[in-house]
Amino acid sequence: MTDSESNYQTVSHTARKRFGQNFLQDASVIYNILRAIGPSSGDHLVEIGPGQAALTKPLIEQMAKDSSLKLLEIDRDLASQLTLQFAHDERVSIQIGDALDFDFSTLREKTDKPLRVFGNLPYNISTPLIFHLLEQATANPAANVISDMHFMLQREVVDRMAAPPGSKTYGRLSIMTQYYCQVEPLFDVPPEAFTPQPKVMSAIVRLLPYKDLPLKADQPKALDRIVRAAFSQRRKTIRNGLKGLISAEELEAINIDPGARAETLDIATFVNIANSLK
Ligand code: SAM
Repeated sequence: MTDSESNYQTVSHTARKRFGQNFLQDASVIYNILRAIGPSSGDHLVEIGPGQAALTKPLIEQMAKDSSLKLLEIDRDLASQLTLQFAHDERVSIQIGDALDFDFSTLREKTDKPLRVFGNLPYNISTPLIFHLLEQATANPAANVISDMHFMLQREVVDRMAAPPGSKTYGRLSIMTQYYCQVEPLFDVPPEAFTPQPKVMSAIVRLLPYKDLPLKADQPKALDRIVRAAFSQRRKTIRNGLKGLISAEELEAINIDPGARAETLDIATFVNIANSLK
C-alpha cells in the first residue's frame, strides 16, 4: 500500500484515495438514489465508477430485460471483480478506463435512445469530469447523446452548480452547468453513508441537458473563454477581467456596466458578451 492510499480495507479491496474511493454502504441512501434515477424499460444506462457495485447490484436487480448498463471503472482490481460478478449478464458490459477520456458519443451511436448517466463520482476529479460530460452531452445537440445524469458529488460542488447570480458560490461551474442543463439538487448524504467516510457532506444532483438551449451563444467556446476570464479573479470588475477580449466601450454599447463584478451578472449577460465578440 502506498502513502496515497488510505488504510481502510475490506476483505478483498483496499480503498484507493487516488481514485477517490468512498464506497456507499447505507441501504436507504442507495434506495433513494435508485428511486431518483427511476430505471425504466429500454434504458441505456452508464455508471461512472461502479466500485464495489453498491449502486450497480440493486440497479441490475431492477433493470428491465431490454435495458443495458455500461460500467466504466478505472481501477483494474475492481473491474475484475465486476467482471466476475456481472459478465454473465448480457445486459451488462464492463469497460476499464478513465471516464475523463471516455467518448460517450461512440456509445450513443450503438443505442436507439440517449444515454442515462449516473455515478457516485470520485470527488478528486468531479469538476473536470462534469465539464467533460457537459461537453459530451452538448457538443452535437442533434446527436442527443445524454438524456439525464444523476451524480453524487460534494455538496459544495452541487451548491456551486445550482448557485444563482449574486451568491457567493456562483461562478464558472454554475454558468456552464446552467447554460447546458436544468440543475436539480435532490438530497444531501452525510459522511456516515460511506466507507471510508469522506470529510465533507455530499449531495445528489440531477442534470437534464436541454434539447434546445434557452440561451444560445453563437460560439460556445467564446462563452467559455469569457466566463473563464471573468472569474479568473473574482474581485475584479469585468472591465479588468475581460481586458484584451472586450473594451469598456464595447461593454457599454451592449448595456453592460464595465464596473460590475462577474458574480453579479446572469447567464444571459455572459451570452450577450460572448455574442458581441468580433
Ligand atoms: N459507486 C461506488 C459506490 O457508490 O460505492 C464507488 C464510488 S467511489 C466514490 C468512486 C469510484 O470511481 C471508484 O470505484 C473509483 O475507482 C472510480 N473512479 C475513480 N476515478 C475514475 C475515473 N477517472 N474513471 C472511472 N472511474 C473512476
